[in-house]
Amino acid sequence: MSIPTTSSQRQRTCRACAKKFDYPVKGSASTRHHCEECVAIPPDTRKILERLNTRVTQLENQLRRLQAKPPAG
Ligand SMILES: [Zn+2]
Repeated sequence: MSIPTTSSQRQRTCRACAKKFDYPVKGSASTRHHCEECVAIPPDTRKILERLNTRVTQLENQLRRLQAKPPAG
């Protein structure tokens, strides 16, 4: 299980919607942290999305941890 690390990391995860996107892409408005769609969202609204996304990510991690644990007997 080894992930090759390259200096030019092109695939990124959007902070607001967790979508995987390529960066940089010519002609695309996407930034390092936000995909093309979320860049168009007003910053105030995007902040809320980021907060929700953080919670979803935490819940996903928690769920994974719970699923990995053998059932208590
Ligand atoms: Zn996005």
